[in-house]
Amino acid sequence: MGNINLNTTSVEVRDHRIGTIISYHGSASQLVEESRGKSVREPKRTFTQCSDCSQGCAETLTYMIRGAAVVIHSPLGCCNPAVQYVAGQAGTQVRNLPPQKVQAISTNISIKETVYGGVAKLRTAVLEAYKRFSPSAIFVQSSCAAGIIGDDIESVADELEPELNIPIIPIYCEGFKSKTWASGFDAVFHGVLRKIVKEPKTKDKDLVNVFNFQGCDAFTPFFEKLGLKPNLVVPLSTVEMLARMSEAVCSTHICETLGTYVSEALEKKYGVVQVKAPSPYGIDWTDQWVRALCEATGRKEAGEKLIAAEHERIKEPLKKLREKLSGKKAYIFAGHSYAHNLANIARDLGMEVIGVTTLHHDQITDSDSEELNTLDKLVKSGGDIKNFSVCNRQPYIMVKLLKKIKPDVLLTRHNNIAVVGTKVGIASIRATDANVIALYDGVINLGNRILEGLSSQKFYDNVAAHVKLPYTQWWLQNEDPFLFETR
Ligand code: SF4
Repeated sequence: MGNINLNTTSVEVRDHRIGTIISYHGSASQLVEESRGKSVREPKRTFTQCSDCSQGCAETLTYMIRGAAVVIHSPLGCCNPAVQYVAGQAGTQVRNLPPQKVQAISTNISIKETVYGGVAKLRTAVLEAYKRFSPSAIFVQSSCAAGIIGDDIESVADELEPELNIPIIPIYCEGFKSKTWASGFDAVFHGVLRKIVKEPKTKDKDLVNVFNFQGCDAFTPFFEKLGLKPNLVVPLSTVEMLARMSEAVCSTHICETLGTYVSEALEKKYGVVQVKAPSPYGIDWTDQWVRALCEATGRKEAGEKLIAAEHERIKEPLKKLREKLSGKKAYIFAGHSYAHNLANIARDLGMEVIGVTTLHHDQITDSDSEELNTLDKLVKSGGDIKNFSVCNRQPYIMVKLLKKIKPDVLLTRHNNIAVVGTKVGIASIRATDANVIALYDGVINLGNRILEGLSSQKFYDNVAAHVKLPYTQWWLQNEDPFLFETR
């Protein structure tokens, strides 16, 4: 199965498996070319202001699986259920689902366990999670401390699984193992594939796995137009929905970073076809995605009719948005392929994409398909992007990049990035819910958000006038945002 081996307890981290990098500056076309064969020479950053860890991405997926519990085998400071709780509650509301609690316990590894081992404490915590929550599955997340002392999480899971009669799924997401926090997504999917997904009892020719986050449900109404049903996984799904992933006819996702590893594994192991097209962001990519989806589900004619009808339906609002946004300059700062998605929509709206920064870059994907290489698609469909960089947040770099390039609007996904844009006086749009800006309506939705942001420019000017940035004059006046990167 290529890079995928479900017989091992943990998945190889992205850094090695698909050549993920976190530093680069140059052009998009150069990055595409150097990425073929994983030959990008990644600059070393000699100063780092902040970072994040794989466990955060693992939490994003596991905390909001309905009916499941999570045991975090770590010191207390490693887990942060509150953030996911807030995001998850918003998700349940927009999907009309009943409110849901995060069911999590930390083993609170202390100095004593780091010396004598923490397996006994882990066993107690798993039993406590079972008693308190009556869950349908328990995820056990590792951490740096658990990994360094070498606690045998697998044995605890194997020992307790028959006793509790539910899946107990070890997730190996130790922060030190990968410089890319997105490795936490792969760690969760690897655990789900090993321990939850079942051999298909039957095949459902209308069921499509859609790998997404806890956003609104834009997919069910769209799929109904084609007689399809989405299996929306992973956050807010149930353990039963995860077990049924093998019964779907095909899989698709809202970004390659999230969905390619699991989709590839489902295709290789259970014959669940991976939809080979960029995610449905922007008119042209949505057309390609609908065609690939309809080919995989045997609905080619219905797909062509739907494309024509959707183009007609959004023709007028799209025209108006293009008139207002044409020539406006956009800068994109977001996670790997989601940044490509945002850039493609911005171009669709007639905007000039004057720069993109992605939080990491995967040189290849887990699939062999060129159709999933969205950076290549972006360059081929809309031309090169001269100012293209890869940077794992780092506000000290962002401030300089934005001040230097001066876009009209900053498109982001993450809260802390939008704040940096706001502080330097740029209309900053936070497109957090990826589902809101997906499909044909998504282009209109993002266009309207951008117009709102531009109409508030006075607010951004005021914020910038009153904010004191925590950087020295030397750094702010220095021309080069990448001064601390060396090859
Ligand atoms: S797992 Fe490691 S990197 Fe992640 S929060 Fe804990 S100590 Fe930090």
